Amino acid sequence: MAKAKLKKEAAAMECRRCGVCCTKHQAFVTPADIERITDFLGITLNDWENLYDDRRWQYSEYRLIRHVDGACAFLRFDEGHSTCLIHAVKPACCARWEAGEDKKECREGIGEAATG
Ligand code: SF4
Ligand code: SF4
Repeated sequence: MAKAKLKKEAAAMECRRCGVCCTKHQAFVTPADIERITDFLGITLNDWENLYDDRRWQYSEYRLIRHVDGACAFLRFDEGHSTCLIHAVKPACCARWEAGEDKKECREGIGEAATG
């Protein structure tokens, strides 16, 4: 247990806001996530389905946020740094995601930053 904790701490890193994770993956949203996010945005469930739901995924009550131009519909870049437009109410799967040296997405982000 202690070894696992040490390994996790060693791999932890500060998020560099490269946005690679939000580009490589589609976020799963639970019904509770959708309710929280639609409340935050002030939109109806119908609006959500029209604007943000990926209709190709029809396999469970868990839905996928649509990608637009190759990235999550809520991802924006500001002066080279990624921003989540729904950060305050982001899906649970996104809130659980932590930057880490052991994650290929974060390493790719470092590489992109290093090469400009
Ligand atoms: S909801 Fe926000 S944190 Fe989650 S994938 Fe989309 S932009 Fe990234
Ligand atoms: S890939 Fe890693 S460093 Fe880049 S935004 Fe996601 S968590 Fe942060």
